[in-house]
Amino acid sequence: MTAWDPALLAAPPLTEGENRLPPAHKLFALRTLPLGEIRAIGFDMDHTLARYRAPEIDGLAFKKAARLLVRDRGYSPWLLEIEYDPGFAVRGLVLDGLRGNLLKLNRERQVVRACHGSRAMPRPELDVVYGRRRLSTAAKGFRNIDTLFEIPESHLYAQMVDGLDRGLLKAENYLQLFRDVRWAIDSAHRNGEMKAEILEHRHFFIPPDPQLALTLDRLKREGKKLFLLTNSEWSFTHGVLSHLLDGQDEARPRWTDYFDLVVVSSRKPAFFLETPEPVALEGRPRCFTGGHAAWLEAQLGAEGEQILYVGDHIYGDVLRSKKNASWRTLLLVPELERELRLLEARNQDMRDLVRLETTRRRTLRRASVLMDQWKRNRVRRHVLGPRLSAEAAVALDHEAAHLASSAEALQRRAELQNLEMDTLMKSVEAAFNPMWGPMFRDRDEQTRFADQIQQFACAYTGRVGNLYMYDPHATVYAPMPALPHERMI
Ligand code: IMP
Ligand code: MG
Repeated sequence: MTAWDPALLAAPPLTEGENRLPPAHKLFALRTLPLGEIRAIGFDMDHTLARYRAPEIDGLAFKKAARLLVRDRGYSPWLLEIEYDPGFAVRGLVLDGLRGNLLKLNRERQVVRACHGSRAMPRPELDVVYGRRRLSTAAKGFRNIDTLFEIPESHLYAQMVDGLDRGLLKAENYLQLFRDVRWAIDSAHRNGEMKAEILEHRHFFIPPDPQLALTLDRLKREGKKLFLLTNSEWSFTHGVLSHLLDGQDEARPRWTDYFDLVVVSSRKPAFFLETPEPVALEGRPRCFTGGHAAWLEAQLGAEGEQILYVGDHIYGDVLRSKKNASWRTLLLVPELERELRLLEARNQDMRDLVRLETTRRRTLRRASVLMDQWKRNRVRRHVLGPRLSAEAAVALDHEAAHLASSAEALQRRAELQNLEMDTLMKSVEAAFNPMWGPMFRDRDEQTRFADQIQQFACAYTGRVGNLYMYDPHATVYAPMPALPHERMI
């Protein structure tokens, strides 16, 4: 499966629905999305319209932040020797700043995997620290790793925790490291140095995407109003989008020609919660800084579910726009293409896992039936005891011994099946990430990240260009929901 196959552009219309599309080019709907009812489509910029070259861009943030910590906060230059490890963290994890840990949570918000610094915590240690408690990650001292920008922050924090534990760094506690690393990453984004470097080497850091102009053009031609809503400031936005869109289409020579409205420095999620006045950018028609959702709706003549917003931030782009403005949402998950490749490559293993689990459950059910028969046998023996003939008592005892040994044999078989499953499961999960496994699940449970997507995104996809493959007036259907009792019928 290639990242993008240009031949798809010439493909015939999707007369049989999107089922014929390769998974990497699909929109996966969680709520049925009637594109015909959408009047305006908004785009976030960073990690949505603009896909940065990873891990190089993360390595840049890592180095800049480490330098700031050494220069301005007096940390040991040891920090500068550390190589950024792009495989260390994944999106959807949670930093526990009080304890120096990084956590993977299931949909119940219970910790299923954790590491202290860069050391994986074994299950018994994890049970002692967190048990089966539901964590409230909005509490002080936690930080959700919700965007790709936060991946280098997690690795830097873990390294600092290691440094403190080994006596290589000085700090009061893990929480101080947590605050300092936040300050350093925040400063790296704000002080302009990192962004200047990205723009200076834009051909390297921002690979061109020929799909982008085509997709935006198609949506506009089909009568959709388009808007940009980004937290990036004007100079960076202009640098990035002129690189990606200027000169792609003779009819729209400048990037701003694709948009009916441009909002930079939008302060999402506050954009959906507060009502600051927008400020028009001088000499730039239809371009503003700040503003708020109700003002934007009035500008576009569209509101609530008539608006589709496309962004990569599960909280700032998707959760808040859905909860507070009732917009429809398309979550960009740039990692999806890799996850799909791995799912495809390990397809046979996944089938084997399902088969093994089905067999294991059947074995356990049979063991449980035999144990139940054994218990009833023992009750009969006890109640009828004095009234049983000697031969009947011996026959009952004989049957009980047989039932017990058969049940034990089945339980041992289930343990072996479990072991076999465990080995295969570990190898499958490690292919996604050796420390964390897949982003969307852990063994047979969904993760907190997957649960958030299901709660708040109408659909999700790997890249903006995938919209090109859909008729802007078609409906993208979500699978029919069904509770377990309904699946029986
Ligand atoms: P958007 O995704 O297009 O809304 O833009 C995200 C913007 O937030 C980019 O300009 C990033 O550089 C910036 N950003 C990301 N993380 C931080 C942070 O920790 N502090 C300040 N700005 C950040
Ligand atoms: Mg973004």
